[in-house]
Amino acid sequence: MTIKERNYWLDTVAEPAAGATGALPDKVDVAVVGGGLCGLSAARVLAQRGVRVTLFEAESLGWGASCRNGGMVLTGMKLPVPTLIKRYGREVVQRMYAASLESIDLVERIVNEEGIDCDFSRCGHLEVACKQAHFDDYAAAAARIKNEFQHELRIIPKNALQSEIGSPIYFGGMVDESSASVNPARYVNGLAKAAQRHGACLFDHTRVTSVSSQPNGASGSFRVETTRGTLTAKEVFLASGAYTSEATPTLRRKVIPIGSYIIATEVLPEALAAEVSPRNRMIYDSKHFLYYYRLTPDNRMLFGGRAAFFPESESMVRESAELLRQGMIQVYPQLRDTKVHYVWGGTLDFAMDVMPHAGKIEGMYFAVGFAGHGVAAATWMGAKLAGVICGDPDDNPFSGIPFPAAPLGLRSGNTWALPLAGAYYKVLDWLT
Ligand SMILES: Cc1cc2nc3c(=O)[nH]c(=O)nc-3n(C[C@H](O)[C@H](O)[C@H](O)COP(=O)(O)OP(=O)(O)OC[C@H]3O[C@@H](n4cnc5c(N)ncnc54)[C@H](O)[C@@H]3O)c2cc1C
Repeated sequence: MTIKERNYWLDTVAEPAAGATGALPDKVDVAVVGGGLCGLSAARVLAQRGVRVTLFEAESLGWGASCRNGGMVLTGMKLPVPTLIKRYGREVVQRMYAASLESIDLVERIVNEEGIDCDFSRCGHLEVACKQAHFDDYAAAAARIKNEFQHELRIIPKNALQSEIGSPIYFGGMVDESSASVNPARYVNGLAKAAQRHGACLFDHTRVTSVSSQPNGASGSFRVETTRGTLTAKEVFLASGAYTSEATPTLRRKVIPIGSYIIATEVLPEALAAEVSPRNRMIYDSKHFLYYYRLTPDNRMLFGGRAAFFPESESMVRESAELLRQGMIQVYPQLRDTKVHYVWGGTLDFAMDVMPHAGKIEGMYFAVGFAGHGVAAATWMGAKLAGVICGDPDDNPFSGIPFPAAPLGLRSGNTWALPLAGAYYKVLDWLT
């Protein structure tokens, strides 16, 4: 069988949400740019609260990272806790961590309230140590997290690791039972339909080409030009992630787009699936250039990694199939003869400081920088900012923290230096 260069998750969606048809309204309360998890989550809450909201997605709904990811609904943030506390102070970081836990509860609540059939499961995640030194750091990291956030992580020594993962190559692991798994495409699809049911107007295949403040200077009033026509919006919410375009150049300069690629194998026999992942965890390793992997609900091995640091491209998708298969066999020699059925890629949105950011830019609301935590974090941030637009107090710990621009060469639309950054992290993985 030839490998399908296609996102496996999309093949599991029976009835994709249909975008709105017909003319644009002249005026809306809020225009949302981007129909991924962040934009759809915001649109759902805004519509629920009686706000006239119109969302624009340049491609199909969920076309960006939101349908292409590993479906890992993860706790925590990318950076180590001491680094975070040093940067932002204990109180802010405690609120950030609480938000990361709350975001998983929110995904679960939305799935239940809206009746979304997307295989949400509180299966927990497992981080595996690629080096003894990485494992040696786990105990201190877990103690710190318990101390600071009263959140429990479990350390798994190498001699007990077989109960968690059928791989001989790791030095131990750390489990967080709060994390979850989801079928991301079905989740996005259900979220879009829920937003529509509540009254949000979702235009797919409609690109926003420019946003400008109204010429009369009226504050809180924007002219939004799209490929389907123009409208006026009291507020604009930029939820365009790694795909942020020249339509909003100031935000674009802050986003670092990094490619990530995934393969999905044929369906594994039940015994083999139970051997490779006995507890069905969401798994990732301790490197910078990391692998992340899991079983799909129908027992395929879904294995992802940053095969390159470029934004996603067709040629990289093709090359990734073999690169990732080799990585998968290193982890799981027993999958040597397992066939790869799917390969696809997507682009993650990083900020220079590896943090999520939200707030206002040139008068528009925005939320970006979710990196590999966006399934939960983008859902939460979209809903949170929607609340702020409706007048809730802004107690979001991620708004108002400094948001550095990306250096030339790393930023969206100008990424020539990304391979150098990739090489740097590879060397770092080798050295540390
Ligand atoms: C391969 C891969 C694996 C990942 N794995 C995980 C994981 O397991 N767990 C996890 O938590 N996170 C993961 N992530 C990250 C996660 O998917 C993202 O952080 C999250 O989906 C971001 O959601 P978003 O709504 O902000 O952006 P997106 O889903 O990228 O949506 C942005 C949308 O905006 C649209 N857009 C941009 N500009 C315009 C415009 N001018 N007009 C109209 N529309 C526009 C784009 O077409 C796009 O669809 C992964 C990402 C990738 C790529």
